[in-house]
Amino acid sequence: MLELTEEQRLLRESVGRLAREKIAPRAAEMDASQEFPEDIHRLFVEQGLLKLKIPHAYGGVPADAVTCCLVTEEIARVDGSCSLMLVNHLAGLAPLIAGSTEEQRSRFLPTIVEEGHIVGFALSEPEAGSDAASLQTRARKDGKGYRLTGTKCFITNGGAAKVFVLFATLDPALKKRGITAYLVEEENPGAHIGKKEDKMGMRASPTTELILEDAFVPEEARIGGEGEGWGLLIEGLSETRILIAALSLGLADGATEVAARYTVERSQFGKAISTFQGIQFMLADMLMGIETARSLVYRAARMQDQDHPSVRRYASMAKCYASDMAMRVTTDAVQMMGGYGYMKDYPVERMMRDAKVLQIFEGTNQIQRMIIARDYLAGL
Ligand SMILES: Cc1cc2nc3c(=O)[nH]c(=O)nc-3n(C[C@H](O)[C@H](O)[C@H](O)COP(=O)(O)OP(=O)(O)OC[C@H]3O[C@@H](n4cnc5c(N)ncnc54)[C@H](O)[C@@H]3O)c2cc1C
Repeated sequence: MLELTEEQRLLRESVGRLAREKIAPRAAEMDASQEFPEDIHRLFVEQGLLKLKIPHAYGGVPADAVTCCLVTEEIARVDGSCSLMLVNHLAGLAPLIAGSTEEQRSRFLPTIVEEGHIVGFALSEPEAGSDAASLQTRARKDGKGYRLTGTKCFITNGGAAKVFVLFATLDPALKKRGITAYLVEEENPGAHIGKKEDKMGMRASPTTELILEDAFVPEEARIGGEGEGWGLLIEGLSETRILIAALSLGLADGATEVAARYTVERSQFGKAISTFQGIQFMLADMLMGIETARSLVYRAARMQDQDHPSVRRYASMAKCYASDMAMRVTTDAVQMMGGYGYMKDYPVERMMRDAKVLQIFEGTNQIQRMIIARDYLAGL
């Protein structure tokens, strides 16, 4: 059983209410229009959700990983895209908070708190996905700064984020040792948003290219030292993977509740379909998957909060297990509802489409399995 503090319990309740009352009624329309939901972004700002993780000194609420998971899960229970808006912002904040100087923190963090600016995370490139260390976006020294050139793809919150934590290389031959992190503001004259993707799921979460054409960033925009970008990236990945796992958990739980309620109301052969053993067995498997994932997700989150040396492996296990589970459970939720589950009148078909990407981004589940096995073998 997950032991929560009074503060965590209250936050979970209030975010759950917000999700049910304000996000759920908009979810189908947001999915259809594929527009970034400005109103939900504003709600998140009003509720202080974008300042989770930011230290008190800059007006934030330095929430731990468990708290961030609770918030993520509550939102995902009704809508994956809105939950992703927050998770990706937290992914961008991680290297910014971990590697920034006092000057950078004072410049960027209060604006995020006051204006509700979203931070984007720009790593992937058309030719560098799983093999992120082979990225080609170049940083060239130019006087008191750098010139950045390259194309980032599949950038969540592209077009909505005001600043991006962007990874570029000083020399591709150096691989990981050449990678450096920079803060690139959306209004930088050399940076612009490229193609917006038309996606299977997470459709209210914009995914775009971010194109850099000789974009100048001053030295003060560099996070950490030259060549320290890879370390910052790895440091932040565990927490983000745990958040993706919490998103998966919420999505699976939400779909299960919708489908289970439907089976009570739907009658065939003169009986509620919930009374059929075939339906009950499916429901039992869904509930067992959710609870197993929940144990792993919150165990990994606690390990993250305790700075446990094995957190990387547990974060990968949580991400991989929970997202595979979410794909299976949302598919079963559609199955339990028969033809009606396949229709857009109910949210489960959207949840099934939203679940798919959870197995792909933040490191595909093949990559997670490699990390898990290699980490275990290295400890033998
Ligand atoms: C909706 C969405 C949002 C995203 N948001 C962001 C974002 O905000 N910022 C960002 O930087 N990126 C983002 N990404 C990119 C995402 O992280 C990448 O898509 C992901 O890392 C996989 O890279 P790829 O798509 O190039 O696939 P590839 O790396 O080309 O993989 C293709 C297939 O090969 C498999 N594969 C690759 N290497 C191996 C291996 N060594 N062993 C076994 N199998 C392997 C993969 O598992 C996969 O099945 C997003 C992606 C999507 C779809």
